Amino acid sequence: MEIEFHGAAGEVTGSCHLVHVGGKNILLDCGMVQGDRDADARNAADFPFDPKAIDVLLLSHAHIDHTGRVPLLVKRGFAGPIYTHSATMDLAAILLADTAHIADMDARDANRDLAQGQKPVQPLYTQDDVDAAMQRMQPLAYGQPQEILPGVRVTLRDAGHILGSATVELAADEGGSTRRLVFSGDLGPTGTPILCDPEQVPAADLVIMESTYGDRLHKTREDTLSELAAIFADAHRDGGNVVIPAFAVGRTQELLYFFAEHFDEWGLGQYRMFLDSPMAAKVTAAYDRHEDLFDPEAKQLWATRPHPLRLPNLKFTSSTDDSRAINSIRSGAVIIAGSGMCEGGRIRHHLRHNLANPAAHIVFVGYQAQGTLGRRIVQGAKHVHLFGDEIPVRAHVHTVGGLSAHADRDGLSDWYGAIAHHPPVCLVHGEDPGRATLAQSLKQKWGCAVTLPMPGVRVTV
Ligand SMILES: [Zn+2]
Repeated sequence: MEIEFHGAAGEVTGSCHLVHVGGKNILLDCGMVQGDRDADARNAADFPFDPKAIDVLLLSHAHIDHTGRVPLLVKRGFAGPIYTHSATMDLAAILLADTAHIADMDARDANRDLAQGQKPVQPLYTQDDVDAAMQRMQPLAYGQPQEILPGVRVTLRDAGHILGSATVELAADEGGSTRRLVFSGDLGPTGTPILCDPEQVPAADLVIMESTYGDRLHKTREDTLSELAAIFADAHRDGGNVVIPAFAVGRTQELLYFFAEHFDEWGLGQYRMFLDSPMAAKVTAAYDRHEDLFDPEAKQLWATRPHPLRLPNLKFTSSTDDSRAINSIRSGAVIIAGSGMCEGGRIRHHLRHNLANPAAHIVFVGYQAQGTLGRRIVQGAKHVHLFGDEIPVRAHVHTVGGLSAHADRDGLSDWYGAIAHHPPVCLVHGEDPGRATLAQSLKQKWGCAVTLPMPGVRVTV
Protein backbone atom coordinates (compact mmCIF):
# COMPACT_ATOMS: atom_id res chain seq x y z
CA MET A 1 0.00 0.00 0.00
CA GLU A 2 1.20 3.50 -0.79
CA ILE A 3 -0.33 6.85 0.09
CA GLU A 4 -0.05 10.13 -1.79
CA PHE A 5 -1.00 13.41 -0.10
CA HIS A 6 -3.00 15.87 -2.20
CA GLY A 7 -4.76 18.15 0.27
CA ALA A 8 -4.76 19.39 3.87
CA ALA A 9 -1.00 18.76 3.73
CA GLY A 10 0.44 21.70 5.66
CA GLU A 11 -2.96 23.45 5.90
CA VAL A 12 -6.33 22.81 7.57
CA THR A 13 -8.73 22.49 4.64
CA GLY A 14 -9.02 20.57 1.34
CA SER A 15 -8.61 17.09 2.85
CA CYS A 16 -7.71 14.63 0.05
CA HIS A 17 -5.37 11.61 0.17
CA LEU A 18 -4.88 8.94 -2.49
CA VAL A 19 -4.12 5.31 -1.59
CA HIS A 20 -2.65 2.88 -4.15
CA VAL A 21 -3.21 -0.77 -3.32
CA GLY A 22 -3.04 -3.88 -5.55
CA GLY A 23 -3.25 -1.76 -8.73
CA LYS A 24 -6.38 0.05 -7.46
CA ASN A 25 -6.87 3.66 -6.34
CA ILE A 26 -8.79 4.61 -3.23
CA LEU A 27 -9.42 8.26 -2.41
CA LEU A 28 -9.78 9.34 1.24
CA ASP A 29 -11.92 12.51 1.37
CA CYS A 30 -12.36 15.05 -1.42
CA GLY A 31 -12.67 18.38 0.37
CA MET A 32 -12.77 22.02 -0.61
CA VAL A 33 -10.12 24.57 0.26
CA GLN A 34 -11.69 27.23 2.47
CA GLY A 35 -10.57 30.64 3.69
CA ASP A 36 -7.53 30.79 1.39
CA ARG A 37 -7.26 33.86 -0.89
CA ASP A 38 -6.95 31.55 -3.91
CA ALA A 39 -9.60 29.12 -2.65
CA ASP A 40 -11.99 29.52 -5.62
CA ALA A 41 -9.23 28.97 -8.17
CA ARG A 42 -7.80 25.99 -6.27
CA ASN A 43 -11.24 24.34 -5.94
CA ALA A 44 -11.94 24.77 -9.65
CA ALA A 45 -8.48 23.57 -10.75
CA ASP A 46 -7.81 20.12 -12.22
CA PHE A 47 -7.46 17.31 -9.71
CA PRO A 48 -3.81 16.20 -9.39
CA PHE A 49 -5.00 12.74 -10.54
CA ASP A 50 -7.47 11.41 -13.11
CA PRO A 51 -10.95 11.20 -11.48
CA LYS A 52 -11.77 8.31 -13.87
CA ALA A 53 -8.87 6.32 -12.42
CA ILE A 54 -10.26 6.40 -8.86
CA ASP A 55 -11.96 3.09 -7.98
CA VAL A 56 -13.48 3.93 -4.59
CA LEU A 57 -14.02 7.10 -2.54
CA LEU A 58 -14.19 7.00 1.27
CA LEU A 59 -15.48 9.99 3.28
CA SER A 60 -14.51 10.51 6.92
CA HIS A 61 -17.28 13.04 7.69
CA ALA A 62 -19.61 15.60 6.13
CA HIS A 63 -17.75 18.90 6.67
CA ILE A 64 -17.22 20.69 3.35
CA ASP A 65 -13.43 20.75 3.73
CA HIS A 66 -13.69 16.92 3.53
CA THR A 67 -16.54 16.49 1.00
CA GLY A 68 -16.96 19.78 -0.90
CA ARG A 69 -15.34 18.66 -4.18
CA VAL A 70 -17.14 15.28 -4.38
CA PRO A 71 -19.81 16.52 -6.86
CA LEU A 72 -16.98 17.94 -8.98
CA LEU A 73 -15.10 14.62 -8.87
CA VAL A 74 -18.24 12.86 -10.15
CA LYS A 75 -18.83 15.57 -12.78
CA ARG A 76 -15.27 15.02 -14.03
CA GLY A 77 -15.61 11.29 -14.45
CA PHE A 78 -15.39 9.41 -11.14
CA ALA A 79 -17.86 6.54 -11.46
CA GLY A 80 -17.13 4.30 -8.46
CA PRO A 81 -18.92 3.81 -5.15
CA ILE A 82 -18.62 6.29 -2.27
CA TYR A 83 -18.63 4.65 1.15
CA THR A 84 -19.36 6.62 4.30
CA HIS A 85 -21.36 6.49 7.52
CA SER A 86 -25.13 6.72 7.03
CA ALA A 87 -25.32 9.90 9.18
CA THR A 88 -22.61 11.48 7.02
CA MET A 89 -24.77 10.78 3.96
CA ASP A 90 -27.63 12.56 5.70
CA LEU A 91 -25.52 15.63 6.55
CA ALA A 92 -23.62 15.67 3.24
CA ALA A 93 -26.91 15.93 1.32
CA ILE A 94 -27.71 19.13 3.29
CA LEU A 95 -24.21 20.68 3.18
CA LEU A 96 -23.50 19.93 -0.49
CA ALA A 97 -26.91 21.31 -1.53
CA ASP A 98 -26.06 24.50 0.37
CA THR A 99 -22.65 24.70 -1.33
CA ALA A 100 -24.25 24.27 -4.78
CA HIS A 101 -26.79 26.97 -3.89
CA ILE A 102 -24.06 29.43 -2.84
CA ALA A 103 -22.08 28.64 -6.03
CA ASP A 104 -25.21 29.37 -8.08
CA MET A 105 -25.85 32.71 -6.29
CA ASP A 106 -22.20 33.74 -6.67
CA ALA A 107 -22.26 32.94 -10.40
CA ARG A 108 -25.48 34.96 -10.86
CA ASP A 109 -23.92 37.91 -9.01
CA ALA A 110 -20.79 37.74 -11.13
CA ASN A 111 -22.80 37.53 -14.36
CA ARG A 112 -24.98 40.53 -13.50
CA ASP A 113 -22.39 43.11 -14.57
CA LEU A 114 -20.77 41.14 -17.35
CA ALA A 115 -18.90 43.29 -19.87
CA GLN A 116 -19.61 42.93 -23.60
CA GLY A 117 -18.09 39.73 -24.98
CA GLN A 118 -17.12 38.43 -21.52
CA LYS A 119 -17.83 34.75 -20.92
CA PRO A 120 -20.46 34.10 -18.21
CA VAL A 121 -19.18 32.55 -14.97
CA GLN A 122 -20.30 28.94 -14.42
CA PRO A 123 -20.92 27.64 -10.89
CA LEU A 124 -18.40 25.01 -9.73
CA TYR A 125 -21.26 22.51 -9.68
CA THR A 126 -25.03 22.42 -9.47
CA GLN A 127 -27.69 20.56 -7.49
CA ASP A 128 -27.82 18.00 -10.35
CA ASP A 129 -24.15 17.23 -9.73
CA VAL A 130 -24.87 16.92 -5.99
CA ASP A 131 -27.71 14.48 -6.76
CA ALA A 132 -25.40 12.43 -9.00
CA ALA A 133 -22.81 12.27 -6.20
CA MET A 134 -25.40 11.30 -3.58
CA GLN A 135 -26.54 8.42 -5.82
CA ARG A 136 -23.05 6.92 -5.61
CA MET A 137 -23.06 6.88 -1.79
CA GLN A 138 -23.39 3.65 0.16
CA PRO A 139 -23.98 3.71 3.92
CA LEU A 140 -21.68 2.03 6.44
CA ALA A 141 -22.10 1.57 10.20
CA TYR A 142 -19.38 1.93 12.84
CA GLY A 143 -17.39 -1.21 13.67
CA GLN A 144 -18.57 -3.34 10.77
CA PRO A 145 -15.78 -4.19 8.29
CA GLN A 146 -16.84 -3.96 4.66
CA GLU A 147 -14.97 -5.42 1.69
CA ILE A 148 -14.69 -2.54 -0.81
CA LEU A 149 -12.29 -4.17 -3.30
CA PRO A 150 -10.99 -7.74 -3.51
CA GLY A 151 -8.74 -8.19 -0.45
CA VAL A 152 -9.36 -4.65 0.87
CA ARG A 153 -11.63 -3.98 3.85
CA VAL A 154 -12.70 -0.71 5.43
CA THR A 155 -13.79 -0.26 9.04
CA LEU A 156 -15.24 3.00 10.36
CA ARG A 157 -14.99 3.93 14.04
CA ASP A 158 -16.63 6.88 15.80
CA ALA A 159 -14.35 9.95 15.71
CA GLY A 160 -16.57 12.04 18.04
CA HIS A 161 -16.14 15.19 15.90
CA ILE A 162 -19.60 15.71 14.36
CA LEU A 163 -22.53 13.35 13.82
CA GLY A 164 -21.39 10.39 11.68
CA SER A 165 -17.70 11.38 11.81
CA ALA A 166 -15.37 8.42 11.49
CA THR A 167 -11.81 7.25 11.62
CA VAL A 168 -11.15 5.08 8.57
CA GLU A 169 -9.17 1.84 8.76
CA LEU A 170 -8.08 0.28 5.46
CA ALA A 171 -6.87 -3.32 5.76
CA ALA A 172 -5.26 -4.83 2.64
CA ASP A 173 -4.12 -8.43 2.15
CA GLU A 174 -0.71 -8.28 0.51
CA GLY A 175 1.64 -11.23 -0.02
CA GLY A 176 0.13 -13.37 2.71
CA SER A 177 -0.05 -10.67 5.38
CA THR A 178 -2.40 -7.79 6.15
CA ARG A 179 -1.27 -4.13 6.11
CA ARG A 180 -3.35 -1.57 7.98
CA LEU A 181 -3.65 2.13 7.24
CA VAL A 182 -5.61 4.26 9.70
CA PHE A 183 -6.86 7.74 8.79
CA SER A 184 -8.07 9.75 11.80
CA GLY A 185 -10.34 12.11 9.82
CA ASP A 186 -11.09 14.93 12.28
CA LEU A 187 -11.02 13.86 15.93
CA GLY A 188 -13.35 15.36 18.51
CA PRO A 189 -12.43 16.17 22.09
CA THR A 190 -13.52 13.75 24.83
CA GLY A 191 -16.65 14.74 26.72
CA THR A 192 -18.34 16.60 23.83
CA PRO A 193 -22.06 16.88 24.52
CA ILE A 194 -24.31 14.55 22.50
CA LEU A 195 -21.48 12.70 20.71
CA CYS A 196 -19.51 9.70 21.92
CA ASP A 197 -15.79 10.08 22.61
CA PRO A 198 -13.40 9.13 19.78
CA GLU A 199 -13.10 5.35 19.71
CA GLN A 200 -9.66 3.84 20.17
CA VAL A 201 -7.97 2.04 17.31
CA PRO A 202 -6.22 -1.20 18.32
CA ALA A 203 -3.52 -1.49 15.65
CA ALA A 204 -2.09 0.08 12.48
CA ASP A 205 1.02 -0.03 10.29
CA LEU A 206 0.71 3.66 9.38
CA VAL A 207 -1.45 6.43 10.83
CA ILE A 208 -2.55 9.62 9.07
CA MET A 209 -3.61 11.97 11.84
CA GLU A 210 -5.14 15.45 11.91
CA SER A 211 -3.23 18.15 13.83
CA THR A 212 -5.56 21.21 13.80
CA TYR A 213 -4.88 22.07 17.46
CA GLY A 214 -1.56 20.24 17.74
CA ASP A 215 -0.03 23.01 19.83
CA ARG A 216 -3.03 24.05 21.92
CA LEU A 217 -4.82 22.95 25.06
CA HIS A 218 -8.55 23.75 25.31
CA LYS A 219 -10.25 25.34 28.29
CA THR A 220 -12.15 22.90 30.47
CA ARG A 221 -15.86 22.38 29.89
CA GLU A 222 -16.56 23.67 33.43
CA ASP A 223 -14.89 27.00 32.59
CA THR A 224 -16.94 27.28 29.41
CA LEU A 225 -20.18 26.56 31.26
CA SER A 226 -19.43 29.16 33.94
CA GLU A 227 -18.72 31.74 31.22
CA LEU A 228 -22.11 31.03 29.63
CA ALA A 229 -23.84 31.16 33.04
CA ALA A 230 -22.28 34.59 33.73
CA ILE A 231 -23.37 35.90 30.32
CA PHE A 232 -26.99 34.88 30.90
CA ALA A 233 -26.91 36.45 34.39
CA ASP A 234 -25.67 39.74 32.87
CA ALA A 235 -28.15 39.55 30.00
CA HIS A 236 -30.97 39.07 32.47
CA ARG A 237 -29.78 42.17 34.40
CA ASP A 238 -29.42 44.28 31.23
CA GLY A 239 -32.64 43.10 29.61
CA GLY A 240 -31.36 43.05 26.00
CA ASN A 241 -31.26 40.21 23.50
CA VAL A 242 -28.58 37.52 23.38
CA VAL A 243 -27.30 37.05 19.83
CA ILE A 244 -25.15 34.03 19.01
CA PRO A 245 -23.47 33.57 15.61
CA ALA A 246 -23.05 29.81 15.30
CA PHE A 247 -22.02 27.17 12.80
CA ALA A 248 -24.88 24.97 11.62
CA VAL A 249 -23.19 21.63 12.22
CA GLY A 250 -22.19 20.61 15.71
CA ARG A 251 -21.80 23.94 17.52
CA THR A 252 -25.51 24.79 17.30
CA GLN A 253 -26.61 21.39 18.59
CA GLU A 254 -24.00 21.56 21.37
CA LEU A 255 -25.38 24.93 22.50
CA LEU A 256 -28.93 23.57 22.52
CA TYR A 257 -27.72 20.68 24.62
CA PHE A 258 -26.16 23.07 27.18
CA PHE A 259 -29.37 25.11 27.17
CA ALA A 260 -31.38 21.98 28.03
CA GLU A 261 -28.89 20.92 30.69
CA HIS A 262 -28.89 24.35 32.40
CA PHE A 263 -32.38 25.45 31.44
CA ASP A 264 -33.51 26.46 34.96
CA GLU A 265 -30.09 27.49 36.28
CA TRP A 266 -29.58 30.02 33.46
CA GLY A 267 -33.21 31.20 33.59
CA LEU A 268 -33.78 30.24 29.96
CA GLY A 269 -37.51 29.67 30.42
CA GLN A 270 -38.07 33.44 30.39
CA TYR A 271 -36.56 33.91 26.91
CA ARG A 272 -38.04 33.50 23.49
CA MET A 273 -35.45 31.42 21.65
CA PHE A 274 -34.91 31.34 17.92
CA LEU A 275 -32.84 29.06 15.76
CA ASP A 276 -32.86 31.39 12.78
CA SER A 277 -31.00 29.26 10.27
CA PRO A 278 -32.80 26.93 7.86
CA MET A 279 -29.60 24.94 7.43
CA ALA A 280 -29.00 24.57 11.19
CA ALA A 281 -32.63 23.47 11.52
CA LYS A 282 -32.13 20.79 8.85
CA VAL A 283 -28.91 19.61 10.50
CA THR A 284 -30.59 19.55 13.92
CA ALA A 285 -33.36 17.38 12.43
CA ALA A 286 -30.66 15.04 11.07
CA TYR A 287 -29.12 14.79 14.57
CA ASP A 288 -32.59 13.98 15.87
CA ARG A 289 -32.92 11.11 13.35
CA HIS A 290 -29.71 9.50 14.62
CA GLU A 291 -30.36 9.38 18.36
CA ASP A 292 -28.84 5.87 18.36
CA LEU A 293 -25.41 7.49 17.88
CA PHE A 294 -25.65 9.74 20.98
CA ASP A 295 -23.60 9.12 24.10
CA PRO A 296 -25.19 7.63 27.26
CA GLU A 297 -25.21 11.04 29.05
CA ALA A 298 -27.30 12.58 26.28
CA LYS A 299 -29.76 9.71 26.43
CA GLN A 300 -29.97 10.18 30.21
CA LEU A 301 -30.55 13.92 29.90
CA TRP A 302 -33.55 13.27 27.65
CA ALA A 303 -35.23 11.38 30.45
CA THR A 304 -35.17 14.25 32.98
CA ARG A 305 -34.93 17.51 31.01
CA PRO A 306 -36.50 19.18 28.02
CA HIS A 307 -35.25 17.44 24.87
CA PRO A 308 -32.29 19.61 23.79
CA LEU A 309 -33.30 19.56 20.16
CA ARG A 310 -36.93 20.40 20.97
CA LEU A 311 -36.78 22.99 23.78
CA PRO A 312 -40.32 24.19 24.64
CA ASN A 313 -39.60 27.87 23.92
CA LEU A 314 -37.35 27.31 20.89
CA LYS A 315 -38.72 28.35 17.52
CA PHE A 316 -37.17 27.23 14.23
CA THR A 317 -37.68 30.08 11.78
CA SER A 318 -37.48 29.04 8.17
CA SER A 319 -39.14 31.80 6.14
CA THR A 320 -37.50 35.22 5.74
CA ASP A 321 -40.72 36.83 7.04
CA ASP A 322 -40.43 34.88 10.30
CA SER A 323 -36.78 35.87 10.49
CA ARG A 324 -37.57 39.53 9.87
CA ALA A 325 -40.24 39.45 12.59
CA ILE A 326 -37.48 38.79 15.16
CA ASN A 327 -35.96 42.18 14.30
CA SER A 328 -38.69 44.03 16.19
CA ILE A 329 -37.90 42.22 19.48
CA ARG A 330 -35.75 44.52 21.63
CA SER A 331 -35.39 42.32 24.71
CA GLY A 332 -35.84 38.81 26.03
CA ALA A 333 -34.78 36.90 22.91
CA VAL A 334 -31.96 34.41 22.42
CA ILE A 335 -31.14 34.33 18.71
CA ILE A 336 -28.85 31.68 17.20
CA ALA A 337 -28.12 32.34 13.52
CA GLY A 338 -25.46 31.71 10.90
CA SER A 339 -23.01 32.19 9.51
CA GLY A 340 -20.63 31.48 12.33
CA MET A 341 -18.13 34.18 11.31
CA CYS A 342 -20.88 36.69 10.31
CA GLU A 343 -19.71 36.80 6.69
CA GLY A 344 -23.17 36.00 5.34
CA GLY A 345 -26.55 34.69 6.41
CA ARG A 346 -29.24 36.01 8.72
CA ILE A 347 -26.89 36.85 11.59
CA ARG A 348 -26.00 40.08 9.76
CA HIS A 349 -29.58 41.33 10.12
CA HIS A 350 -29.60 40.49 13.83
CA LEU A 351 -26.28 42.25 14.34
CA ARG A 352 -27.62 45.30 12.54
CA HIS A 353 -30.56 45.43 14.97
CA ASN A 354 -28.68 44.60 18.16
CA LEU A 355 -25.08 45.84 17.93
CA ALA A 356 -25.98 49.44 18.81
CA ASN A 357 -28.00 48.41 21.87
CA PRO A 358 -25.90 48.62 25.09
CA ALA A 359 -28.27 46.11 26.73
CA ALA A 360 -27.62 43.42 24.09
CA HIS A 361 -25.06 40.64 24.39
CA ILE A 362 -23.28 39.17 21.35
CA VAL A 363 -21.73 35.79 22.12
CA PHE A 364 -19.06 34.28 19.84
CA VAL A 365 -18.65 30.55 20.37
CA GLY A 366 -16.31 29.67 17.51
CA TYR A 367 -13.07 30.65 15.86
CA GLN A 368 -13.24 33.96 13.93
CA ALA A 369 -10.86 33.97 10.97
CA GLN A 370 -8.77 36.97 9.95
CA GLY A 371 -10.66 39.39 7.72
CA THR A 372 -14.19 38.36 8.81
CA LEU A 373 -16.82 40.64 10.35
CA GLY A 374 -16.83 38.39 13.42
CA ARG A 375 -13.10 38.96 13.87
CA ARG A 376 -13.51 42.75 13.65
CA ILE A 377 -16.22 42.69 16.32
CA VAL A 378 -14.31 40.45 18.75
CA GLN A 379 -11.24 42.63 18.26
CA GLY A 380 -13.23 45.60 19.57
CA ALA A 381 -14.25 47.54 16.43
CA LYS A 382 -16.19 50.67 17.47
CA HIS A 383 -18.19 50.70 14.23
CA VAL A 384 -18.98 48.12 11.56
CA HIS A 385 -20.57 48.42 8.12
CA LEU A 386 -23.74 46.43 7.50
CA PHE A 387 -26.07 46.81 4.53
CA GLY A 388 -24.56 50.18 3.67
CA ASP A 389 -24.99 51.64 7.17
CA GLU A 390 -22.36 52.38 9.76
CA ILE A 391 -23.48 50.64 12.97
CA PRO A 392 -21.87 51.60 16.29
CA VAL A 393 -20.89 48.63 18.48
CA ARG A 394 -22.36 49.34 21.93
CA ALA A 395 -23.51 45.82 22.80
CA HIS A 396 -21.47 43.61 25.15
CA VAL A 397 -19.23 41.31 23.11
CA HIS A 398 -18.16 37.93 24.54
CA THR A 399 -15.86 35.23 23.23
CA VAL A 400 -16.56 31.84 24.75
CA GLY A 401 -13.77 29.33 24.11
CA GLY A 402 -13.78 25.64 24.85
CA LEU A 403 -16.52 24.64 22.41
CA SER A 404 -14.10 23.27 19.82
CA ALA A 405 -15.08 20.21 17.77
CA HIS A 406 -11.40 19.19 17.58
CA ALA A 407 -9.26 17.34 20.09
CA ASP A 408 -6.43 19.44 21.54
CA ARG A 409 -2.74 18.45 21.77
CA ASP A 410 -3.28 16.03 24.65
CA GLY A 411 -6.43 14.57 23.08
CA LEU A 412 -4.59 13.85 19.82
CA SER A 413 -1.61 12.40 21.66
CA ASP A 414 -3.81 10.13 23.82
CA TRP A 415 -5.75 8.82 20.80
CA TYR A 416 -2.51 8.02 18.97
CA GLY A 417 -0.86 6.61 22.11
CA ALA A 418 -3.57 3.93 22.45
CA ILE A 419 -2.55 2.33 19.13
CA ALA A 420 -0.34 -0.76 19.71
CA HIS A 421 3.41 -0.40 19.07
CA HIS A 422 3.11 3.29 18.10
CA PRO A 423 3.41 2.96 14.30
CA PRO A 424 4.80 5.73 12.04
CA VAL A 425 2.44 8.69 11.78
CA CYS A 426 1.91 11.34 9.07
CA LEU A 427 0.42 14.60 10.36
CA VAL A 428 -2.12 16.36 8.13
CA HIS A 429 -4.90 18.94 8.56
CA GLY A 430 -2.73 21.40 10.48
CA GLU A 431 -0.65 24.47 9.80
CA ASP A 432 2.98 24.78 10.68
CA PRO A 433 4.38 25.52 13.24
CA GLY A 434 1.47 23.92 15.21
CA ARG A 435 1.84 20.66 13.31
CA ALA A 436 5.60 20.61 13.90
CA THR A 437 5.06 21.21 17.63
CA LEU A 438 2.75 18.19 17.81
CA ALA A 439 5.30 16.11 15.90
CA GLN A 440 7.93 16.99 18.49
CA SER A 441 5.69 16.08 21.41
CA LEU A 442 4.60 12.76 19.81
CA LYS A 443 8.23 11.79 19.18
CA GLN A 444 9.18 12.61 22.76
CA LYS A 445 6.20 10.91 24.39
CA TRP A 446 5.81 7.80 22.22
CA GLY A 447 9.17 7.49 20.42
CA CYS A 448 7.43 7.21 17.04
CA ALA A 449 8.52 8.24 13.54
CA VAL A 450 6.62 11.35 12.36
CA THR A 451 6.31 12.68 8.79
CA LEU A 452 4.94 16.14 7.93
CA PRO A 453 3.84 15.54 4.32
CA MET A 454 3.50 18.35 1.80
CA PRO A 455 1.32 17.99 -1.34
CA GLY A 456 2.53 15.29 -3.75
CA VAL A 457 4.59 13.41 -1.14
CA ARG A 458 4.31 9.58 -1.24
CA VAL A 459 4.67 7.30 1.79
CA THR A 460 4.70 3.49 1.79
CA VAL A 461 2.53 1.68 4.36
ZN1 LIG B 1 -14.40 18.47 10.35
